[in-house]
Amino acid sequence: MVVMKFGGSSVKDADAMRRVADIVRRGQDRGRGSLVVVSAMSRVTDQLIHAAALAANGAEPDVTPMVDGLGARHRQVAASVALPARQPGLISELDADWREVTQLLHALAILRDLSPRSLDAIVAAGEIASSRILTAALQAVGVSAIWVDPRRALVTDEEHGAAQPDMAATRERMDEEVQPHLAAGRLPVLGGFIGATKRGVTSTLGRGGSDYSASIFGAALGAAEIQIWTDVDGMLTADPRVVPGTRSVPNLSFAEASELAYFGAKVLHPSTIAPAVAAGIPVRILNSHRQEAPGTTIVASPPPASTPLTALACKRDVTVIDITSSRMLMAHGFLRRLFEVFERYRTAVDVVTTSEVSVSVTVDDTRHLDAILAALGEFAEVTSEREMALLCAVGERLRIDPSLSMQILGALEGFPLRMVSQAGARRNVTVVLPQEHLAAAMAQVHDRFCTLQQEAAHA
Ligand code: ASP
Ligand code: MG
Repeated sequence: MVVMKFGGSSVKDADAMRRVADIVRRGQDRGRGSLVVVSAMSRVTDQLIHAAALAANGAEPDVTPMVDGLGARHRQVAASVALPARQPGLISELDADWREVTQLLHALAILRDLSPRSLDAIVAAGEIASSRILTAALQAVGVSAIWVDPRRALVTDEEHGAAQPDMAATRERMDEEVQPHLAAGRLPVLGGFIGATKRGVTSTLGRGGSDYSASIFGAALGAAEIQIWTDVDGMLTADPRVVPGTRSVPNLSFAEASELAYFGAKVLHPSTIAPAVAAGIPVRILNSHRQEAPGTTIVASPPPASTPLTALACKRDVTVIDITSSRMLMAHGFLRRLFEVFERYRTAVDVVTTSEVSVSVTVDDTRHLDAILAALGEFAEVTSEREMALLCAVGERLRIDPSLSMQILGALEGFPLRMVSQAGARRNVTVVLPQEHLAAAMAQVHDRFCTLQQEAAHA
């Protein structure tokens, strides 16, 4: 049994819906049972959030046309993908859902108050609508799809807007609400991102939460595989806008995926696949525009990579802060005091290096930079440099081959490296350098360590 997840751009209009239906039907032809998880159609969640904010600010007149527009867009797609016999029923279900959204928004306008809980009730409409339409699109191509309300299947805590699943309760619900359909050869279709608390109040898992839903459902059902369908060939060896000659990475370990995500690579957020990883279920990233492409498979321990490094990530617009204090550095409590400043201004630190008398850190959120520099300045000398970039080389092989990090730094000879960070037995080496050198440095490392031998020989 396979879980297939499709994001908002994969269901953005009638053609996209039909493409998804085709992919799912082909999967069925191969004789595998599946469950489909789908996001709201592209931009719908943003629009619902915007509408809720407007309503709560008393701008109700601006809200009505927005909701009418959303209703019309969904009705039009529904009319295009559903079989004629199904259309009236589907459209009246959708209209009823949008009427409910209008009522909720009206209530917000009266209360002038927007709690995370009311917002969840409103944004849920996006996934409810897209999943109803996709169910009809699947039925239209002969798949015995059945719509299942995710609020009956995914049980969460009460942290509205960023709810966490109750796996045991979800497993029980899946046994009741989903398993019987699978056993009968039907294909359940569920909206991602949304669930409900134990008391039945609608909740959401946080932005981009449909991947998380797919992983939760897959884990609850003991799926053989979770497929995340996107519009790229899986995870690439580097950002193709920065480095020429990238290719997709066939296999990635969970730990590598986490390192890459941390430094801004466009992969799944690692926490969203945690339930799948805990259950030992492979997660595959596939391209809905190139179904034959193998994509990327993420598992706990993948087969050894065919290149020394698995992939590179980079991050631009990073600021380096150097903090020097000959008096204080070795005194205990100094680092606590230093990091408390970042904590106070809720600013995340990415890379840290220390020497005898100084600490260097990088931040990418500079909203509070002046205040941070002033606070640090009370007990140390502080300088900062903007327009720096992070280059992060990732690969399981770094853990076992200590000479590899030396070779990477060797390949970067001549580049003005500002910071170098590598922990023993870790899967990444990170360097910080002026942004203007990033592309050349990335190309250099990619050529030497991420390119297949054969390709290198041919080049
Ligand atoms: N529709 C939700 C969002 O836009 C969830 C998702 O797309 O995964 O954040
Ligand atoms: Mg999305």
